Amino acid sequence: GGKSYSFMLRTKQPSGKVPNKLYLVMDQLADQFGIGTLRLTTRQTFQLHGVLKHNLKTVLSTIIKNMGSTLGACGDLNRNVLAPPFPFARKDYIFAQETADKIAALLAPQAGSYYDLWVDGEKIMSADPPDVVEALKDNSHGTNFEGSPEPIYGTQFLPRKFKVAVTVPTDNSVDILTNDIGLVVICDDEGNPKGFDIYVGGGMGRTHRMEHTFPKLAEPLGYVPKEDILYVIKAIVATQRDYGRRDDRRMARMKYLVHEWGIDKFRTVVEQYYGKQIEPFQELPPWEFKSYLGWHEQGNGEHFYGVHVENGRLKDTSKKVLREIIEKFNLSIRLTPNQNLILCDVRSSWMQEISRSLRQGGLLHPRWVDSLNITSMACPALPLCPLAVTEAERGAPDILRRIRKMFDKVGLRTSDSLVIRFTGCPNGCARPYMAELGFVGDGPNSYQVSILFFHWCTDCLLHIFPVVLYFFQGLHTFRMLSIIYTRNPVCNRELPLEEYLT
Ligand code: SF4
Repeated sequence: GGKSYSFMLRTKQPSGKVPNKLYLVMDQLADQFGIGTLRLTTRQTFQLHGVLKHNLKTVLSTIIKNMGSTLGACGDLNRNVLAPPFPFARKDYIFAQETADKIAALLAPQAGSYYDLWVDGEKIMSADPPDVVEALKDNSHGTNFEGSPEPIYGTQFLPRKFKVAVTVPTDNSVDILTNDIGLVVICDDEGNPKGFDIYVGGGMGRTHRMEHTFPKLAEPLGYVPKEDILYVIKAIVATQRDYGRRDDRRMARMKYLVHEWGIDKFRTVVEQYYGKQIEPFQELPPWEFKSYLGWHEQGNGEHFYGVHVENGRLKDTSKKVLREIIEKFNLSIRLTPNQNLILCDVRSSWMQEISRSLRQGGLLHPRWVDSLNITSMACPALPLCPLAVTEAERGAPDILRRIRKMFDKVGLRTSDSLVIRFTGCPNGCARPYMAELGFVGDGPNSYQVSILFFHWCTDCLLHIFPVVLYFFQGLHTFRMLSIIYTRNPVCNRELPLEEYLT
């Protein structure tokens, strides 16, 4: 027989919201047309690996008909919009999630060819909210290509992929500063959302041996009232569309434009598209890294349970048991930016049975999982990602075990942890440069190691020291090529938001 082409397929769902039916469908598609496992990603989506070309249409149309989408999950346009997935009945969380939905709608490709191709032109998706429709139509500031099927992207789309996240103050579950645009909901004294602080120009990917490429933290752009948010988003996207580099894909992310111009010039150009001034950035409290695993109250009488999924890979018994629980209690699901999963809207009377089933399925309560595993992330890498040059997901458990051993040896407590992330190439999908310890593959069995120091406090030294020892005691099988020192923006200790040092 001829060669069989297989595809990786990625869904798109703002804030990681997955309706009950869509979850069950994805689970089934993975068995029927994938490799039998379901992968949760760092951008709150599913990945199905191993879909054969002749099955693509069936798989895609099934996803679309079940309220899912893959439109714009890859390519030079806006990717899945992140927001904290936690189902708290709190105005700021709900507003962040609604805003994520609106931005996703605003920046979705408008031409109908996607639906023509995969569902024969059937109109399935629900209509966009009125303010999105209005913002799409508005072309008063030259941000629209009149007459083009793509009013914002024009004929060429963007120079490179584009990432947006929305969150609330203190909750950095979304790694807010790694996005092209990061929005933070600002509330008035009564707790009602009134506007957004905006960060711009974050991004992780770099290229080995090209020192002019680098990971960068987003910088504060300013504040805008909530009514204007979609217009400012359009203005920022248009700025990147018109001025981002198109001659070199490695330098095409918006972070290089912000870096080259400086934030003040960038703001001035955005203001020209926006037609108004951007107000000064409002002061924010320090960020915390929140994963909300285990049981939590939602604030409306119901509960949610954060399930720890090792490296985001659901397989075998755990996959089967989760499906049974989700089906039986008709639960809706949310995916977290840490590759975990949340069971939402659980009544008190169901909690015991759900806990028992999860345990039987090997999905342990986080208190029984090594804290190193709880905070770590790895990308799929080999053998599933064509860009991978070495292991990440498959190699991580062993490296984590060995780091724990070293912790034991030097007398650190089991509760002591580090945020450790692995990727199989410098593209940095698991955001390794934001981890306290990042392993970035640069060749077979070879990693660049980046270490983030937020403060040189004894606590951090105690944490990092054993790991450094681990490398120099001949326990490792790979070379350490370089160490990049910088500050840690994810951990829950004091966080200075200065420029990222590389
Ligand atoms: Fe693939 Fe590199 Fe992303 Fe890992 S970081 S999934 S190897 S592109």
